[in-house]
Amino acid sequence: MELKYVPTTCPYCGTGCGFNLVVKDGRATGIEPWHRAPVNSGKLCQKGRYAHEFIHSKDRLVKPLVRKNGQLVEASWEEALDLIAGKFMTFRPEEFACLSSAKVSNEDNYLMQKFSRAVLKTPNIDHCARLCHSSTVAGLAAVFGSGAMTNSIADLEESKCIFIIGSNTLEQHPLIGRRVMLAKKRGAKIIYADPRRTPTAKQADLYLSMYSGTDVALLNGLMHHIIEKGREDREFIGKRTKNYEAMKTVVMQEAYSLPEVSKITGVPEDNLKIAAEWIASSKPSALIYSMGITQHTVGVDNVRSTANLMLLTGNLGVPGGGVNPLRGQNNVQGACDMGCLPDVYPGYRKVADPETRRKMESLWGVSGLPEKPGTTVTELMEELAEGTSPVRCLYVMGENFMLSDPELNRVRKALEHLDFLVVQDIFLSETAKFADVVLPATCYAEEDGTQTSTERRVQRLRKALDPPGEAKADWRIICELAGRLGYGPQFSYPGEAEIFEEITKAVPQYGGISYGRLENPESLQWPCPDRSHPGTPILHTEKFATPDGLGEFSAVEWAPPAEVPDAQYPFILTTGRNIWHWHTGTMTRRSETLDSEVRTGWVELHPLDAEKLGIENREKVRVLSRRGEIEIPAMVTEDIKPGVVFIPFHFRECAANLLTSGALDPVAKIPEYKACAVRIEKIEPVEQKEPAEKKEPAEQKEGKP
Ligand code: SF4
Repeated sequence: MELKYVPTTCPYCGTGCGFNLVVKDGRATGIEPWHRAPVNSGKLCQKGRYAHEFIHSKDRLVKPLVRKNGQLVEASWEEALDLIAGKFMTFRPEEFACLSSAKVSNEDNYLMQKFSRAVLKTPNIDHCARLCHSSTVAGLAAVFGSGAMTNSIADLEESKCIFIIGSNTLEQHPLIGRRVMLAKKRGAKIIYADPRRTPTAKQADLYLSMYSGTDVALLNGLMHHIIEKGREDREFIGKRTKNYEAMKTVVMQEAYSLPEVSKITGVPEDNLKIAAEWIASSKPSALIYSMGITQHTVGVDNVRSTANLMLLTGNLGVPGGGVNPLRGQNNVQGACDMGCLPDVYPGYRKVADPETRRKMESLWGVSGLPEKPGTTVTELMEELAEGTSPVRCLYVMGENFMLSDPELNRVRKALEHLDFLVVQDIFLSETAKFADVVLPATCYAEEDGTQTSTERRVQRLRKALDPPGEAKADWRIICELAGRLGYGPQFSYPGEAEIFEEITKAVPQYGGISYGRLENPESLQWPCPDRSHPGTPILHTEKFATPDGLGEFSAVEWAPPAEVPDAQYPFILTTGRNIWHWHTGTMTRRSETLDSEVRTGWVELHPLDAEKLGIENREKVRVLSRRGEIEIPAMVTEDIKPGVVFIPFHFRECAANLLTSGALDPVAKIPEYKACAVRIEKIEPVEQKEPAEKKEPAEQKEGKP
């Protein structure tokens, strides 16, 4: 019997916990603590604890599938890759788009954007950061010169006050939630603002129960009070910032006085006052946010507002302070760093900059790289659905937009306008079912690589198992395709370490990192520009990364969501996650333990609303928006604000994204997942209510849906 413990990094959230994957006779049998892991000291949440269970699922893709006569049938790699290469040769650059993935390694992501730009010559490369943190990248880069989390997870313990807004930290980033709780034990005050009384709210010292979509009003109100009482940090503002007066002019308007803000947000005036005073008087104070802030048509404004508050109170560049956006998936940060965005090359260097383009052409040994930024995935879906996009061929690595994108009926329509769809994934996802060719890929346990956590920490993924059947690593598939298209020499790598070597040349922030350095002390936080650099736990300690080194205040006015409740659709719908499941559920719904805890979705509504509608707890109801409808069990709970309803988006049988709005932030092009208008209808008498039924995970069905 062969037994081994392979230290690696969790494939779920952006916290980046390490664990030992236990392998017995070639099969993953469990997860054990890895006590030296820098982020979590051996501790794990439920998802990490059972991260081995989906690996050997009977649903894993083990052979390529090719569509013949409308059916997906097994094919050899030769046949599948030859077919793709032959088809790819028939499209022009503007007819391609590629989607990379925040779930796969830096090496896979780096090669996907290189393939897109250097082989297909298309600028249309994007990934799911568009849907979660593109507002962070745009908003924080404008203010600080860098779109990343400013501080480290560990130094939250130094905070005297932690203000969490739009992040259910204890459930969605539990090992960051642990640091928050440790700070609380040491006396820090915890303030929490959200429309739902989540487990994070229940641990907070002060809960601000706000309406979804009122973040800028709330933040401006807090700043109004701080300035009115003379509690701003004048020394910090004078030495390290600019544009203060413009911001002050906006927030000091009567519209942002606490009585007015209380009316907009639904938060009692006294609670707003306490929050403002705690933040201003506790040094250092940290701010944490996540998708409750970013996923709005004003996502970039929301992000800039959070930065305003921390600049105003002088809480940047210090341990225990900072603006800390918590990335959702395991490698969102890395996929952005690798340049899987339509406007930037690896290292966030602008696509439109001729000097950068020349450097990339020289590094990659190619010519004719695209000169203009490409299309974002959200705009692509909109244009495809309207029939105005030139794109005819889509190459997708590990994305499941048929469940994760807003307005799913529109996404379905968008796919009908494609001539050729290639999906590589580990399961036959909702998206893969539409493909012309499906390629079986490896999961986190079956290849070497690196991923970068929310705190800019680059860590190793280590191969522990052989892939199932004929599945191959994403990067190997990309290289084989590049070879067939005449780019073999530019995509010739003996292994993952050599790809990483190239990454260190393309991404200045990773310049000093190597696989060797990631053995001891196991991880490094970028920027790490050279081989002697120790990495950077806290950004902006001396100056900001802006051209003049100053942090820039933004004058931001509150604007309501694109769609507000009315007589026909009287509720605000907000969507999100559940602690037992992950994203579109492809992995967690195939984990026996996690799936047995929560079998399907639900809609949360307040007892006052339920009473008005005559709805009882667990009764199946119909939820409708202007874009679609679903049937779903009701959960009647006081943990949500009256007038607001919540649906987790993991479950395809009651997909929240059939209802959500495709309205976009004008800068980041992120959809407004956190606020749209819906109505709820009763569909059956209380006495006929049924318990929530278990739905089987997706079968490997043949035939285009
Ligand atoms: Fe994995 Fe995130 Fe849980 Fe850590 S907190 S074990 S990274 S899911």
